[in-house]
Amino acid sequence: MAEIVLKNITKKFGDVTAVKNLDLSIDAKEFTTLLGPSGCGKSTTLRMVAGLERPTAGEIWIKDECVYSKEKNIYVPPGKRKLGMVFQSYALWPHLTVFDNIAFGLQINNKPDIKAKTKKVADILAIADLLERYPNELSGGQQQRVAIARVLVMDYDILLLDEPLSNLDAQLRMDMRAELKRLHNELNSTIIYVTHDQLEALTMSSNIAVMNSGLLQQYAGPMDVYDQPANLFTAKFIGNPPINLFEAELKIETGVRKAKLSQKLELLLADKKFDALEAGAEINIGIRPEDIEIRPIAESPDAKYKGEIYSVLPAGSEWYFKVVWEDKIITVSEHSGMDLEQDDQVAINIEAETIKLFDNQGLLIK
Ligand code: ATP
Repeated sequence: MAEIVLKNITKKFGDVTAVKNLDLSIDAKEFTTLLGPSGCGKSTTLRMVAGLERPTAGEIWIKDECVYSKEKNIYVPPGKRKLGMVFQSYALWPHLTVFDNIAFGLQINNKPDIKAKTKKVADILAIADLLERYPNELSGGQQQRVAIARVLVMDYDILLLDEPLSNLDAQLRMDMRAELKRLHNELNSTIIYVTHDQLEALTMSSNIAVMNSGLLQQYAGPMDVYDQPANLFTAKFIGNPPINLFEAELKIETGVRKAKLSQKLELLLADKKFDALEAGAEINIGIRPEDIEIRPIAESPDAKYKGEIYSVLPAGSEWYFKVVWEDKIITVSEHSGMDLEQDDQVAINIEAETIKLFDNQGLLIK
């Protein structure tokens, strides 16, 4: 059995259903991220695993032990679930130094090597020179790192982290992502991480559970979630700049399938996976900005699709272009150094296999 199993979990707060019929199975040593917009139910899910909220229905299992089941009248309280938690709103002891805040759990449990262990996590989190200070002498980001250190030092097999990097500035967030990833490999712990930041999820996780309105949308590895988004919600939520999406109607002309995006715009659907689609079907087409190639029209005067540069948005190594494509505006990303300016005519190329197609229920056709 997996390390952590949620079986058909529902959580209601009065009329609000925060989590609905959630099944999730998390293997030992994985870094699993619950990802979704504000209010989608990710913190509630984490709090149920921790034992801080009781599900309205369903069961939770940790390491082959049922820790919650309403039907079987089982509830194991947080302290007995043997897991560490770091929350967005952490509370450090104001009257203790950083050292004592970190070492507190080790001290009350009479653990050995307190000094060495505390020093080690302080080093990892770059707060070793702050050990003598008090919390009110620290910045928000430093306090957050102390809160993380305090949990890491306990060496739990399972760590629950709820937006632990949210108070840090962009540079520190980036560094801390790398540290947390290294730490995960080093500690061999199972981590459940909550964030609304898709980049954080993509860069750190072994698996991502995408949630929206209390419902699980997709549970897969980061590259799958990105390349094979199970539905329109996931396609839109993951990716920056966002995916280009168009409502369309399927047409078949002399056996050739096309997506009719507008009166003026038809996109050839040459990939075999679209062969089962019937004429007249309502579909959505998704194309990631990096799957669209643009070139000066002079390089490819006979191109099938043509457009005009609406604006150029250089962003260092990556350049973004807004391109007028008949009666649509699309976002294209290219590596820097493209010799293209506003109002230039361009050839547009889209490889058939990169086109994502969603049926009238919004589900990806594979
Ligand atoms: P955020 O990123 O903003 O923290 P979230 O995805 O973690 O959001 P939850 O905090 O799990 O979302 O909340 C899910 C839904 O449940 C929301 O509609 C929220 O208002 C509601 N909710 C959460 N906790 C409670 C509570 N204690 N009482 C009433 N409603 C609650």
